[in-house]
Parts: sequence; C-alpha cells; structure tokens
Amino acid sequence: MSEDCDVLIVGGGPAGLAAGEAAARQGVLTLILERQHEIGYPIHTSGGSWVSDMQALKIPLALYHPINKVVFVSPQREVPLHYQPAVACVVDVRGLYQHLASRAIAAGALLRVRHTVEQTLLEEGRVCGVTAKNQVGERVSFRATVTIDASGFSRHVGVRTDMGKAFHRYGFGAEYDMYAPNYPQDELYLIMGSRFAPRGYAWAFPRGNGRVRLGVGVLHPDSDEDARAYLDSIVRDVPQLTDKFKDASPIEFHTGLFPSEGPLEHFSRDGLLLAGDAGGHGSTLVGEGIRFAIYSGQMAGNVAAEAIKARNTSAAFLERFDKKWRARFGRDMDISYMINKRIANYSDEQWDAALDLMKRLTPSQMAQALRGDFSAGLIMGILARNPGLIATGGKKFLDVMLERINTTTMQPAER
Ligand SMILES: Cc1cc2nc3c(=O)[nH]c(=O)nc-3n(C[C@H](O)[C@H](O)[C@H](O)COP(=O)(O)OP(=O)(O)OC[C@H]3O[C@@H](n4cnc5c(N)ncnc54)[C@H](O)[C@@H]3O)c2cc1C
Repeated sequence: MSEDCDVLIVGGGPAGLAAGEAAARQGVLTLILERQHEIGYPIHTSGGSWVSDMQALKIPLALYHPINKVVFVSPQREVPLHYQPAVACVVDVRGLYQHLASRAIAAGALLRVRHTVEQTLLEEGRVCGVTAKNQVGERVSFRATVTIDASGFSRHVGVRTDMGKAFHRYGFGAEYDMYAPNYPQDELYLIMGSRFAPRGYAWAFPRGNGRVRLGVGVLHPDSDEDARAYLDSIVRDVPQLTDKFKDASPIEFHTGLFPSEGPLEHFSRDGLLLAGDAGGHGSTLVGEGIRFAIYSGQMAGNVAAEAIKARNTSAAFLERFDKKWRARFGRDMDISYMINKRIANYSDEQWDAALDLMKRLTPSQMAQALRGDFSAGLIMGILARNPGLIATGGKKFLDVMLERINTTTMQPAER
C-alpha cells in the first residue's frame, strides 16, 4: 500500500502540528503521522511557558494559566519575584496540542494517529518518504516531496539519515500532576540543590482548578540519579511547599526526556528537514521547548511548502530553514547551552550564591534571562547591579557572553 503527499510530517507534537498548519496554509498536500492513539497523550512535559509567546502564537487564553509569583529556592535562600501583569504561564498541554492539531486540520492538513513511522525511503541519497505501521498493523509507504522529522527526542528519521546521532546528554524528568486544594494557584516554584534535584531542578507549576504539576529533572549522564525517586520527598520535605501540598494527591504520573546538547549543525538535506526537539531546537537553559518547537515547526512547514512551490527541494533550497532558525534563535540557544553546562555542576553553595545574585536583579531582568533573551543591555544591567562580580569568575563568564552577543546579529523584527 502506498500514499503520496507533498509534505510528510513525522510526529504530532507541537513542532509537527505547527509545521502541518504552516505547510497546509500554503496549499500543499500535507500529512502528519503520529504513533500515539491521541494527540497530547501521554504527557511528557510540564507546560511552563510565557504569556507573550502564547499571545503571539494566537493560543486562546483558556489554554494557559498566567502566573504572578515566581519563587526560586536553593538550600539556604529564597527569591520571590512578583509580576503584575503575569509574564510566565503554565499551559494545558493536552488542550494546547489538540488546539494545534485542530488548526492544522482547519488549514487543510491530514492527520493520522496510531501510525508508527518505521523506515525511511531513500532514492539516490534523497529522502522521499517513510514506511509506517497503521492502526490495523498494515505497513504503508508514504511517499513525499519533503519529509519533516518532528519526532522529538527519538529524532527518528534524522538518526537513520546521518543528520545526527541519538541524544547522549539529556534531562530525564518525572512529574506528578496533582490535585492540591491548598496550593496557591498563582505561585510557581523552581527548586535547586542536591537534596531535591541533583544536577537539575525541581518545579511546582500550578495550572488552574486546583491542579499542580510537581516534578524534577536530572541531567544524564552528568548524574545517574533517578528523578522518580525524588518526587515524594519534594512533596513532603521542601519547607516552602509542605503546607501547600497538604491534602494533595497525584492524579497523573508523567516521565519524559529532553535533549540537552544544543542544536544540530545542519537541520536540512535533500528532501528532509528536522524541526523541534529532533533538531535540538529547545532551550537547554531550563529545558524549555514547547514554544520553540512551535516556532521551529512553523519555519520548517513554510520552507517545505515554498520549496515544493519552487519545484526545488534540494539541500541548497531547504537550507533556508537553517538560516532562518539561526538568525532568530541561534545566538540565544548557544548562550543558553553555555550556561547550562556551567550550572549543571553547581554545588549547593554555588546555588546559594546564584540566588544572592538573583536577589539584586529586577523581576524583569530575571524574566528576560529565564526566557533566554540575551542582549548586551541585560548583561550590562546584571553587572551594574552586581559590581562584586567584577572581582570573580562570574565576570569572565559574562564577558564571554557579551562577546558572543556582540559578534552575532539577531534579526530585531523577529525577536
Ligand atoms: C520532563 C520534561 C519537562 C518539560 N517541561 C517543559 C516546560 O515546562 N516548558 C516547555 O516549554 N518545555 C518543556 N519540556 C520540553 C518540551 O516538552 C519539548 O521541547 C517539546 O515537547 C518538543 O516538541 P516536539 O514537537 O519537538 O517533540 P515532542 O513533543 O516529543 O513530539 C514528538 C511527537 O512525535 C511522535 N513520534 C515519535 N516517534 C514517532 C514515530 N516513529 N512515528 C510517529 N510518531 C512519532 C511522538 O509520539 C510525539 O507525539 C519538557 C520536557 C520534559 C521531558
């Protein structure tokens, strides 16, 4: 059995669904294959994001929960930051992904659930589709002019076409989605330190209606600790959270893997693009990838459709995707990765010192840094508020960041 399309997308996560919408909007025949029975299930993510991005992406307000207070906790410190109006939010993951699926379908894309992609079809070195097992176990060939690998952490097509290796460094996250009637729904916690989150961090993300995502992520192979083993003690023993989780209970248990290696060198070759986590397009700073997957999927879907309309799906044409992505995100993602590698090894004392530094920043500087929107103004602002840094290794690190910022131009309209 065989089916033909213009753009074939492997994976119905945020990258694949956004790519599907973007390509279908340009009038090319677009097909998305998702191996699970449902879009947005099972959940592998916590849904922390930003109000301004949800607005820019036209996500309905009902699908995200704005947060007014963000609290950082280290072994001996606590830094509360207040935002009015809210800048951070927690998305309804299943609702958001199903909304993206509806948008792709409304634009004209076809979506098949319970279709597991297996082999990659190659002709003279060019990717021309995949084979997949459908919902009744039949093997079907899907031939396509451009294939987009949006399969997330599995990087299914990318690994089989030598675009990149299977991820070696990654965050392993475990999470309870709890009903917590006493948890204040506008307070988000990020918890650092060896007792609750060795080589990573723990989080409490309220998402409305008494629900809270309580999780922890650990970087591998930097650490071989099992994130799952920490969840109960976070609920029970983090002093700031004990009362808030009184009478709470998990309703769901999630686990997931987030690539922590930075972007690939190339995201395109003849007939193929890699978008979202498959391309390493998430921010390694705090393991944030949903909005980046949507932006990357949109870019990939648009370039794929343009290539089809131009009847040129060569690597040279498709490389436009690499260029667009790097112009918009490359520099900030490189800096995020530099910071990730540095803080991954922080001791408890270093986390306490980092929170001392945070205390001196404004809430808006902290939000800008957490978002990974690095600018010379932000670095100079951090230095101005922390003159003590000039005498320490911290200043040297900020200088390297500044040099990176000054030698790379971002497209201002796209930031
Ligand atoms: C524990 C954890 C917490 C996180 N928390 C946050 C957070 O708070 N905020 C945030 O922004 N990001 C967070 N992330 C990161 C975020 O989840 C990812 O960056 C994002 O999901 C990437 O989207 P994607 O579409 O590229 O990949 P995915 O969401 O992984 O989607 C890939 C899709 O492809 C499908 N697929 C895979 N292989 C095949 C195949 N062979 N055939 C067919 N379909 C296939 C999968 O079933 C899946 O639906 C977190 C990640 C983890 C692991």
